[in-house]
Amino acid sequence: MGQNIDFEIVVIGGGIVGLASAYKIALGHPDIRIAVLEKEERIAAHQTGHNSGVIHSGLYYTPGSTKAKTCTKGRKELVDFAKKHKIPYEICGKIIVATQKKELANLERVFHNGQKNEIEGIEKIGPEQIKEIEPFCHGIAGIRVPCTGIIDFTEVAKKLGELIEKGKGNKVLTSHKVLRLDKHDFFTNVVTNKKAFTTKFIINCAGLQSDRVAKADGNEPGMRIVPFRGDYYELTEKAKEKVKALIYPVPDPTFPFLGVHFTRKIDGLVECGPNAVFSFKREGYGKTDFNFKDSWDALSYRGTWKMFLKHWRYGLGEYARAFCSRWFLRQLQRLIPSLEANDIKPGKAGVRAQAVGPRGEPIDDFKIERQKNSIHVLNAPSPAATASLAIGDYINEIATEYFKL
Ligand SMILES: Cc1cc2nc3c(=O)[nH]c(=O)nc-3n(C[C@H](O)[C@H](O)[C@H](O)COP(=O)(O)OP(=O)(O)OC[C@H]3O[C@@H](n4cnc5c(N)ncnc54)[C@H](O)[C@@H]3O)c2cc1C
Repeated sequence: MGQNIDFEIVVIGGGIVGLASAYKIALGHPDIRIAVLEKEERIAAHQTGHNSGVIHSGLYYTPGSTKAKTCTKGRKELVDFAKKHKIPYEICGKIIVATQKKELANLERVFHNGQKNEIEGIEKIGPEQIKEIEPFCHGIAGIRVPCTGIIDFTEVAKKLGELIEKGKGNKVLTSHKVLRLDKHDFFTNVVTNKKAFTTKFIINCAGLQSDRVAKADGNEPGMRIVPFRGDYYELTEKAKEKVKALIYPVPDPTFPFLGVHFTRKIDGLVECGPNAVFSFKREGYGKTDFNFKDSWDALSYRGTWKMFLKHWRYGLGEYARAFCSRWFLRQLQRLIPSLEANDIKPGKAGVRAQAVGPRGEPIDDFKIERQKNSIHVLNAPSPAATASLAIGDYINEIATEYFKL
């Protein structure tokens, strides 16, 4: 007698990556039953619901990397998806601005990278064009990226959830925290806080918890999630006119983050930030949030210390900005010199799941691995929200081939 199977596939994590993956598999295989299990009361409760809402162009990523390929493809598909399902978005474009001569070489490097990645319409601009596009911004040179846009990724996630549940037998179950995976020869018993489900295949899209879910599935993932909190400020109503769309500094290639930038969001709010500080809690959004297990897991890992030792100077600067708004403001004034202390107020925070390897190297590219009956998304940092539909295609391809769907 065979075991009764509740769902052919269980996706763990109702963020945009899990939902896009389940959606693409459901489209490709309408006859199978899929469940998405999300531990929070709502989907998109963590990275997906705390991000900047930027539809990234794909300009920065190493040519040929999974990030570069899926970002460009995913961006185009995301825009079509938003159009089709009437999700508000805007292709407002962005500028990357150098404010000092020493940044020019990196700006040039970013431009060539964008050309290699075939990003449509990018152009080099000078100080006058910067002023024409963003009248309050000061810069000596820049790049205009016309295909960058803005959207609310929570809305995209909600629509994906709705579409998944249109498939016969599919479910998106919130408040279902996966506690344990009991492995049997031909099926897995997925034990949650509510009930247990039997499934043939697991897809781990647990974001900030992805390394733990991989371990629960009997895997040694060879990396650890080190959480980095990013605090944002917002421009006040009066100061909002100082930013028309998106203004970014030239990124430092040695760090995985893009630097403090200005983002007009789809709801009209203008965010500025973030900094990037080690977070003592994986899903903690307050400056003093602490969780013993999360801190122990990160700080008992050799890779974390190796990374800290390599980047301690940068880390100290980021901490200073986290606790001192004057320092934060100074950073912002590099791009908009007329910004004053009463133009900004504290905004929200987000925590990034940064996968770190054992030598202290932040893992840059997406890391998606297959085991016998499971797929683990171990690293899906920015631009994974932009790229989500293309990541979903990729996961559907792997699932189709190896799970023999
Ligand atoms: C501050 C910030 C700004 C960003 N800005 C952008 C941007 O502008 N554009 C862009 O493209 N990308 C951006 N990103 C990146 C993007 O948000 C993420 O790459 C993307 O949301 C990752 O999605 P995910 O589904 O992998 O993770 P998440 O959204 O974190 O989802 C994982 C889900 O798994 C659930 N889960 C975990 N463990 C369990 C369990 N045991 N049982 C059940 N459920 C579980 C969690 O509750 C969570 O909902 C940003 C990220 C951050 C943090």
